[in-house]
Amino acid sequence: RDLREKVWRTYYSRGDNGDAKDNNANIQKILKLRYERAQLLGFPTHAHWRLDNAMAKTPDAAMELMMRVWPSAIARVKEEVAEMQAIADQEKAGVKIEPWDYRFYAEKVRSARYDLDMNQIKPYMQMEKLREGMFWAAGEVYGFSFEQVSGLPVAHPDIRIWEVKGRDGQHIGLWYFDPYARTGKRSGAWMNAYRNQQKFDKPITTIVSNNSNFVKGAPGEPVLISWDDAETMFHEFGHAIHGLNSNVNYPTVSGTAVARDYVEFPSQINEHWLPTKQVLSKFALHHKTGEPIPQALVDKLEKAKTFRQGFDVTEYLSSALIDMKLHLAGGADIDPDAFERDELTKLGMPPQVVMRHRTPQFGHVFASDGYSAGYYSYLWSETLALDVVDAFKASPGGMYDKAMAKKLHDNVMSVGNSIDPAIAYRNMMGRDVDVTAYLRDKGFPTT
Ligand SMILES: [Zn+2]
Repeated sequence: RDLREKVWRTYYSRGDNGDAKDNNANIQKILKLRYERAQLLGFPTHAHWRLDNAMAKTPDAAMELMMRVWPSAIARVKEEVAEMQAIADQEKAGVKIEPWDYRFYAEKVRSARYDLDMNQIKPYMQMEKLREGMFWAAGEVYGFSFEQVSGLPVAHPDIRIWEVKGRDGQHIGLWYFDPYARTGKRSGAWMNAYRNQQKFDKPITTIVSNNSNFVKGAPGEPVLISWDDAETMFHEFGHAIHGLNSNVNYPTVSGTAVARDYVEFPSQINEHWLPTKQVLSKFALHHKTGEPIPQALVDKLEKAKTFRQGFDVTEYLSSALIDMKLHLAGGADIDPDAFERDELTKLGMPPQVVMRHRTPQFGHVFASDGYSAGYYSYLWSETLALDVVDAFKASPGGMYDKAMAKKLHDNVMSVGNSIDPAIAYRNMMGRDVDVTAYLRDKGFPTT
C-alpha cells in the first residue's frame, strides 16, 4: 500500500514539483496569451473563440451537458467507495479508502460482483475474423463490399489493401490495414486519410488507413486480441467508414474534417456493431474449436459494463470542467494549483478521485490549442453516439435497421462538414440530442 501511495503521488504531481520542470508559470502565461488572442479576435474568452466553430457553439452549452452528468457521477463514486470500504473492512485491513486504493479495491469488487475474467474472452477474439466482422457489418449498414488487392505501393510489406465498392459495384476508395507493431512505428491505434474524397475539380475517391500495434503471431497462428482492442478496431474503422462514405464537393469539408466535438461521434457509433449477435455469432469464433463465443460470457460482459463508471466519468469530467473553467476565467493572473483546488471544492469533487489530467500535466490542453476548452468533446460525442445507438436499437431492424442506416448515412456519414452538425443531427433524429442514453449506459439514474 505504501508503494501504491508513492506511485500515485509521483504520477499525479508531474510538472508540479516546484523544480525546473514545473509547468505552473508556463500555464499562467499560456492562459494570458490565449485570452489576449481571443480579445484581438473579438471574443470574450478563449473558450468562446474555440467553441464558435464547434457543434456545441457556446461554452454554456458544453457546461450544461457536463453539469447534467456531474452530480450522478460523483454520487456513484460515493457508492463505489462504500462498496470498496466494505471489502476492506471485511478483510480487517485497517484501511480507509484513499485515492491510491481505488483501482486496487475496485478489482476486488469486479471479481466478487461480476465473476468476469477478461482472459476468458480472448480465445474468441481473432483479429482477422473480427476484421471480416467489421467488413460484414459495414456491408449490411452501408452496402460496402471489400476485395483485397495487390500490386499497389505500401510503406511496409505487412500492410494490406482492400478495394471498397458500393452497392452498385462502383469504386468507393481504398482501405489500407497496418495492424502490427514494429520498431519506429507510433504506438496506439489510429486512422489516417492519405487522400480525401472530393468533387471540386473532378471526382477524387478517398484512400484511408487503419493502424494499430498488435503483436504479429507465429506463421499460421491467429492473432488474439482483447475485447477492448476489438472495440478500438471497430472504433478506428468507424473513422475510416466516415471517410469512405464522404460525398462532398470541397476537400476542406470532406470525410472526418468535422468539428472537434463531432469527429468521434461516427467512430463511437461503429463500436456498437461489435457486440451485436450477428457479428459475435459469425466472427467471434474460438481459435481452436471454431465455436462462437458463448452467450453466457457475452451476458457477463454486458452486466459488467457499468462497473467503476463513477470513477471513470468523474476523473474524466473533472478534467473537462477545469479545462473549460480555466479558459472562461478571463485575463486575471491564475495560479493553476489554487484554481484547480478551489474549483474542485466548489464542484464537490470526491476526495478519493483525482483529475485524469491535472492542470500542470494536461498535454491535450496545453501542448497545443488542440483540445483547449475542448476536453468536453469526448462526452459530447459519446452522448450523440449513444443517443443514435438507442434509436437504432428501438427500430424494427435493431442495429441493422435499413431506414436508420440510411438516415445516418445521409445526414452524418456522407456530408463531412458541409452541413452544420446540429442541423444534420436534428434532420436525422427529428429532435436535438438527449442525454438519457448516455446516463443509462453508465448505469446512472436518468431522471
Ligand atoms: Zn477516434
